Amino acid sequence: MAANIPLVDLAAQHAEVAAEVEEGWAQVLARTAFVGGPAVAAFEAAYASYSGVEHVVGVANGTDALELALRALGIGPGDECILPANTFIATAEAVARAGAEVVLVDCEPGTALIDVDATLAAVTDRTRAVLPVHLYGQVADVASLRDRLPAGIAICEDAAQSQGARRDGLQAGAIGDIAGTSFYPGKNLGAYGDAGAVLTNSAELADRVRLIGAHGSPRKYEHSVVGVNSRLDTLQAVVLSAKLERLDTWNALRREAAARYDTLLADLPVTRPTVTPGNEPVWHLYVIEVDRRAEVLAALNADGIGAGIHYPTPVHLTEAFATLGKAGDFPVAEAMADRILSLPLYPQITEEQQLRVVESLRKAL
Ligand SMILES: *Cc1c(COP(=O)(O)O)cnc(C)c1O
Repeated sequence: MAANIPLVDLAAQHAEVAAEVEEGWAQVLARTAFVGGPAVAAFEAAYASYSGVEHVVGVANGTDALELALRALGIGPGDECILPANTFIATAEAVARAGAEVVLVDCEPGTALIDVDATLAAVTDRTRAVLPVHLYGQVADVASLRDRLPAGIAICEDAAQSQGARRDGLQAGAIGDIAGTSFYPGKNLGAYGDAGAVLTNSAELADRVRLIGAHGSPRKYEHSVVGVNSRLDTLQAVVLSAKLERLDTWNALRREAAARYDTLLADLPVTRPTVTPGNEPVWHLYVIEVDRRAEVLAALNADGIGAGIHYPTPVHLTEAFATLGKAGDFPVAEAMADRILSLPLYPQITEEQQLRVVESLRKAL
């Protein structure tokens, strides 16, 4: 039997940066300074420049990044934050952890991005922020949100899946007031463990994130607010700096692979991903829609193909957030959840591997 094809192949990525990571890690180990330091500052500066923002603050993971971004905005109990029902649970957790109320809205069919009209309809006098999620690597319509939302409502981008993506020339994470991103190993820019960052053009918000993430401590043993411990590890910063240099190349390879799927799937009874005009996605995931999804997924997996579902359960249908709605409340998100299927995609995927994925899919259908 042919070799299995994983959903994501991190070994291939590691092979490209292994030497640099080893050298960088040896230096960190020699210094035995594992939190903060020059490697973290260098990565923060490099990622800020890459992203076109003034400030990047490294934190422990993407969920913390979003929570700290909201807390830096002063959002807490009594406030409402709007986010799409079809996202990874972390977007909702960040709002809940900040002490605010999650308000869900539906997504647009096709792109699966937050529905701007639905967002406007959900605004109340307690709404303090909207969290558009750049799902699967495609940038949500932040510009329309900005134009049409009442003044005073912040936009906090969930840029966990969109490192390097652009919409109308603007880079994900640099369009709203503040953004949180994740460097979980499987993301387009992935660490070797958990890591994340907050991006913003506001020095005040960046300082506030840094303060809250470091035990609310502006100076050693002074604590001006009740903070948390959320910092970017030095060892992770070394990995991220090495991978950042290759991110554009890797994203370009993802685009090529996505285009190849588009061609190979053209005559199959599947719905291919929709890209809106002006969007340059980075294909964190290549997500199609199929009928009889459970059977198709089982057939692919049985064939050694690591297809997956992102995500099978909209936020309001999870046990944790059951109070946010009932079945039928967000029909587009719910219909997609039953039909979506993520195909293997990573920068180093070969044409031969993609042909095998598509052949297996053809049989399954
Ligand atoms: C990965 C992810 C997060 C959370 O990141 P962690 O680093 O795992 O905490 C948040 N939102 C989305 C959309 C994600 O994909």
